[in-house]
Amino acid sequence: MRYFDAHSHVQFPQYDEDRDAVLSAMRDAEIGALIVGTDSGYSKGAVDLADGKTLFAAVGLHPNDKPQEGYDPAYYEALAADSRVVAIGECGLDYFRPEDPEAEKERQKSVFQQHIELALRHDKPLMIHARPSKGTMDAYLDVIEMVKGTGVRGNMHFYVGDVETTKRFLELGFTFSFTAVLTFAREYDDVVKYLPIESILTETDAPYIAPASRRGQRNDPLAIPEIVAKIAEIRGEDEDTVREAVLANAIRVFAL
Ligand SMILES: [Zn+2]
Repeated sequence: MRYFDAHSHVQFPQYDEDRDAVLSAMRDAEIGALIVGTDSGYSKGAVDLADGKTLFAAVGLHPNDKPQEGYDPAYYEALAADSRVVAIGECGLDYFRPEDPEAEKERQKSVFQQHIELALRHDKPLMIHARPSKGTMDAYLDVIEMVKGTGVRGNMHFYVGDVETTKRFLELGFTFSFTAVLTFAREYDDVVKYLPIESILTETDAPYIAPASRRGQRNDPLAIPEIVAKIAEIRGEDEDTVREAVLANAIRVFAL
């Protein structure tokens, strides 16, 4: 592998027409990926697609993609035991919708708590989706409150926290993955510059968030080199050095 996409959803139906072509282009470009589940079906789909060589899986229930689907402990326990599963998630807290009732936060917290325990039992890191309400860091602060002292490891997916919040996650030993948002928005540059390179991962969140060169189209893990190049540019570092470092981080964090 030359690159690693730490958070993609190539099991989603958006790839049903051309999944083989996408996966074969990824092989040609030496891009490995973590395929992330968001519910029971997509978690199983991630495991089925993983080969344990360059494609790996994460299993979990997204905090608010499918609020009607309850967390089934036995189901995720069985999936998490598979050696191709290298992370638990995506899971976490999403406070983005102001119309959500207060009870929704409590529901998300109880589901997230089960993921924390699952990750600890299997000694696998959490793949965390946390989205604060507008103008705040609330979901991040609640995640910190829940994980601190547990010893659980984790990666903050699609990270948009400020430097202050970043410091607190760093103290927990967490890593941070950045998307192609970096190719068209400048508000995360400070954090990208602030972080030690050892704490940075690259991700696409494909099919979402295509890079500047393909804005508005379906995304795929082939966008990773563009994200690596942007991180190197923002940090003023050599592109190949950054590529090697973030790849080594993924191999370490997910024990690939
Ligand atoms: Zn995702």
